[in-house]
Amino acid sequence: MKIKIRDRILNMNLMEKEPHDPEIVRTVARMKRVVERWNLDADFRKACESDPEKTLAEIAPDVDPEAFRLLINKDAAEKLVEDLKAEKISEEDIPESYVIYKASVREKILHREKLRQTYCVPDEPHFRAWRERQQKRCYMEMGPSAQRMVQAALMFELTLGCSVGCPFCGVASQGLRGIFRYTEENAALWRETLRRMHALLGGAAGRGTCYYSCEGLDNPDYEKFLSDYYSEFGVVPQTTTAAATRDIERTRALLRFADENDPHIDRFSVISAEMRDTIFEAFTPEELVNVELLPQFPEAPGNCFAKVGRNRDKDDEDAVGGTIACASGFIVNMQEKSLRLMTPFVSDRDHPTGEWILEKCAFRSAEDLEKQMRRMIETYMPLELDFEKRVGASCDFSLEETDGNVRVGAHGVRVDMLHAPMAQAGLDTVVTALKARRYTGDEILELLPEDMNPAQSILLLKQLWDHGLIDQVTE
Ligand code: SF4
Repeated sequence: MKIKIRDRILNMNLMEKEPHDPEIVRTVARMKRVVERWNLDADFRKACESDPEKTLAEIAPDVDPEAFRLLINKDAAEKLVEDLKAEKISEEDIPESYVIYKASVREKILHREKLRQTYCVPDEPHFRAWRERQQKRCYMEMGPSAQRMVQAALMFELTLGCSVGCPFCGVASQGLRGIFRYTEENAALWRETLRRMHALLGGAAGRGTCYYSCEGLDNPDYEKFLSDYYSEFGVVPQTTTAAATRDIERTRALLRFADENDPHIDRFSVISAEMRDTIFEAFTPEELVNVELLPQFPEAPGNCFAKVGRNRDKDDEDAVGGTIACASGFIVNMQEKSLRLMTPFVSDRDHPTGEWILEKCAFRSAEDLEKQMRRMIETYMPLELDFEKRVGASCDFSLEETDGNVRVGAHGVRVDMLHAPMAQAGLDTVVTALKARRYTGDEILELLPEDMNPAQSILLLKQLWDHGLIDQVTE
């Protein structure tokens, strides 16, 4: 039995085109559906808590109650691992459907890691180094939650604004003000844009999405743009939509297009109990095996809104929250003909949407877009820290001397960065000068006390640079 399960899990490949083991798909899909009910339906959760076996038998008679219990009960799952380690039980004692479902979750996480570490890495060397620095800064600022950011290099918007108006919108998108229709002229601009971006950034240009601060399905021609994207990159971009139930057949066709050409994970934002019920009724569990259902309404037990954008604490402007941004790169709005360079940031007074927008500019044509992008790369993404130019703190951080190490702290994350004894007074001077954003690197070195080792100070600035905590001042 053990070998059989392993062999089948190794062949799972739910995000590959080749035919899947239908029994595996069925198991994953059924388990996933009850887990989603648990996260989306307070009544189901309550009923499960009082009589799990009866509730499950009514809703999903083919799901193993023990496998479900292990999925929703963290203590039970931890005990299982302990018992396995202590050889109190063997692998054969673990419910097969539990093992299969957990393997499917692991497959998704591994795919996300591949996106972050490989697919989304741009070819352009300055951009590549800049993106790496921003990733490190995100770890420093946001800790392990930064691990979930794929840090896409390029994303498109095919409308200006969004019609949905979610009260929790993390990017505080404004109402729908324009749609980039697939006219002959627009289609030509789109295809040339894709070609140029592909040449400049490599495959990473085709690993973003065709929505960012908007709703893809607001554009009636969304699928035509996706089809061109697929022709250019061989990739069907991920869709996260809060409008999955607007036109069920349209949504179903979109999922089918992905499944037939480039299976991947799509996401439905479930923004009400009615929408949840419609989704469960309209789509079979197997149809949604590669679609995550996000609990995005307050009554959903699994709901967890980030305190960002429209959901930021209105009574505390100084509050520091997370972000939902997941790109360190360019956002191209085709309708507005605008380009912005951004990277995730903690949500604070100056960055209420959890985005650091370094610049936004207009473009007139695909050629002009490429020109503007190259200019931004040159301006904002130098490979090395230039000590003759002004340098400043990119975010809020502190430097602390601890037992011969320089420790950097940012929003609760603390990391020893340099193994060198440096006086606290000197470190305070460095931080103050960096926060002022008006001194060159050389000037900061001159400000330091005489007994501070200049070589160590240079190394410290370089370390801060490598971690994206300082940047070259451009204005
Ligand atoms: S969360 Fe998405 S769908 Fe909702 S308002 Fe914001 S951009 Fe639109």
